[in-house]
Amino acid sequence: MPELPEVETMVRGLQPTLSGRTLRRLEILDSTLLQGCTSGQLVRRGRGATVAGVTRRGKWVVMELAGDRGIIVIQPRMTGGFWLVEPARPEHIRLVFHLENPGARVWYCDARRLGKVCWFANGLAAAEAFARSHGPDALEIARTELARRLSRTSRGIKPALMDQKVLAGIGNIYADETLHRAQIHPERPASSLTAEEVDRLHRSIGEVLATAIELEGSSFDAGYRTVLGLEGGFLAQNSVYGRKDQPCPICEGPILKTRIAGLVGRPTYYCPVCQVLG
Ligand SMILES: [Zn+2]
Repeated sequence: MPELPEVETMVRGLQPTLSGRTLRRLEILDSTLLQGCTSGQLVRRGRGATVAGVTRRGKWVVMELAGDRGIIVIQPRMTGGFWLVEPARPEHIRLVFHLENPGARVWYCDARRLGKVCWFANGLAAAEAFARSHGPDALEIARTELARRLSRTSRGIKPALMDQKVLAGIGNIYADETLHRAQIHPERPASSLTAEEVDRLHRSIGEVLATAIELEGSSFDAGYRTVLGLEGGFLAQNSVYGRKDQPCPICEGPILKTRIAGLVGRPTYYCPVCQVLG
């Protein structure tokens, strides 16, 4: 599932191809992904529009069209992704951006069709929609704001970190990596963290996400790929996620794989020596 580093990698990959470029047309192959507009409306707004910029907000890809054409927001959710090269699985193509330059295209594919393509009239409307369902971006949240938000919930720290309304962008992989780096047990009640622990956690979030962005995210199975169809490199050098029984990079003891309350169907990896419940 694309988390913040994967979406940031998508955005950085799309920028050189889309920013400042003019769309000849949008081709919508699956209108069930659309929200806030019909297929016909989106096609009209996209025709001949210049893409003013491509940015990220949490796990959203935000494309601003110049000249009051509005904002297209794509939420890749579970299996969405962009391709600058011919997609490996053409049956999963849901949306095609045809650029002015003949033959130049950007594909949006989504195997399980759980992603969304939304249209907003302007940046303010998109920002308001985001704020209704999300907390601050995980790369931008201030330490004091993180502390304030965690102090309000007695849920386990891991599900709290993954709650997009607390902070936006962190899912299962980066929650495990961040908590290991901060040496905090995933089931610690969020509100029980000391000021020093919140400091460590805040610093770890920034460091883990920065490393993951540098390595172009995490790929496993047939899931996330970069816009060039390549695998991200983070899981080749991470600490705990997917590493059951392998040595902890801090203490060399075995990493445990478990399930914790509040996270149905998703595994949790941690080091029982470095991350003590207390
Ligand atoms: Zn350890």
